[in-house]
Amino acid sequence: MADDLFDVTIVGAGPTGLFAAYYAGFRGLRTKLIDSQPDLGGQVTALYPDKFIYDVAGFPKILGKDLVTNLVEQAMQYKPAVHLNENVQTFSRAEDVLELGTDLGTHRTKVVLITAGIGAFTPKTFKRPELDKWMGRGLHFAVRSKEDFRGKRLLVIGGGDSALDWALGLVGYASEITLIHRRDQFRAHEDSVKKLFSSPITVKVFYELRTIRGDGQVREAVIFSNKTQAEEVLPVDAVLAFLGLVSNLGPIREWGMEIDDDSIVVNTKMETTIAGLYAAGDITAYPGKLKLIATGFGEAATAVNNAMTYINPKASAFPGHSSSIMEQKEKAGAKTS
Ligand SMILES: Cc1cc2nc3c(=O)[nH]c(=O)nc-3n(C[C@H](O)[C@H](O)[C@H](O)COP(=O)(O)OP(=O)(O)OC[C@H]3O[C@@H](n4cnc5c(N)ncnc54)[C@H](O)[C@@H]3O)c2cc1C
Repeated sequence: MADDLFDVTIVGAGPTGLFAAYYAGFRGLRTKLIDSQPDLGGQVTALYPDKFIYDVAGFPKILGKDLVTNLVEQAMQYKPAVHLNENVQTFSRAEDVLELGTDLGTHRTKVVLITAGIGAFTPKTFKRPELDKWMGRGLHFAVRSKEDFRGKRLLVIGGGDSALDWALGLVGYASEITLIHRRDQFRAHEDSVKKLFSSPITVKVFYELRTIRGDGQVREAVIFSNKTQAEEVLPVDAVLAFLGLVSNLGPIREWGMEIDDDSIVVNTKMETTIAGLYAAGDITAYPGKLKLIATGFGEAATAVNNAMTYINPKASAFPGHSSSIMEQKEKAGAKTS
């Protein structure tokens, strides 16, 4: 438990929270990052570390995990306190001090920045014990590393972006890939659907998973046509099911901020409707909002720099230009050394 007072506590260490931690450090704020996941990087680390991202400014293309490595390096130069595997649940105020209650303790802070994305999220499972019991024994609901599937025969299930992106991304790693989808319409990007049908992947539409068989490890998947009920047995080493995500804003919803659908309403300073609580990234709602990494970065800078004036009303929201400030700091360092 950490009971000393921080300037800013950031709830959620996805791309937005990490960039906010950098900016808070750059502004000289004592910063803490809390995340319920075991690793830094939010959705990017949990759901697509091995996928290329093409729309982050300054990177024509970058692997998710490389973007996270860079964000972590940038954020950690100011040594924020980091608490992983800790779920923030409650918020209260004791005069000027804000208190966050987690499953592990209490955190005291002057300002809270909520960068909790889509909330604490987990991939959907089948909710059928006879299938879900294969988790960790060849059944996966997310991909951590493509290397885990090298040389393996895979059954991929789903018709959304994750299913198609991973099926295509694993070509060249897996020895054989079959993708089944219960309809012939795909939610995935049109371009991915085109690529899927011109790839070596065997695609079966109107097919679903009936059962998985094995000897402690997945060995066979029984699939069936939902038109004819005819069954087929596929010898496989792994089943990758992309059934969507369950995200849960959870207790944050009860803190009293204005909420729109499952997002927190903010103004142009990224202030929520409760003083001292700011929000940025996927979790926010305002007219014209786009849920993208690029917009989260801008919102993180806006939130932290405006929070600076909440903590110290004499401070300027504008941080100055990092290029000049770092140059001055380096010169000052050279003079004193
Ligand atoms: C398959 C896929 C592909 C994508 N491709 C792109 C792309 O190409 N370009 C792009 O711009 N965007 C893409 N996105 C969207 C992008 O990942 C999100 O916009 C981005 O991750 C949002 O960052 P964030 O930091 O706001 O939230 P998140 O990444 O969701 O991070 C939020 C963090 O908050 C934590 N958290 C939540 N609630 C709590 C709590 N109560 N206590 C503690 N921790 C909590 C979560 O564990 C999580 O780690 C993609 C998304 C997916 C799923």
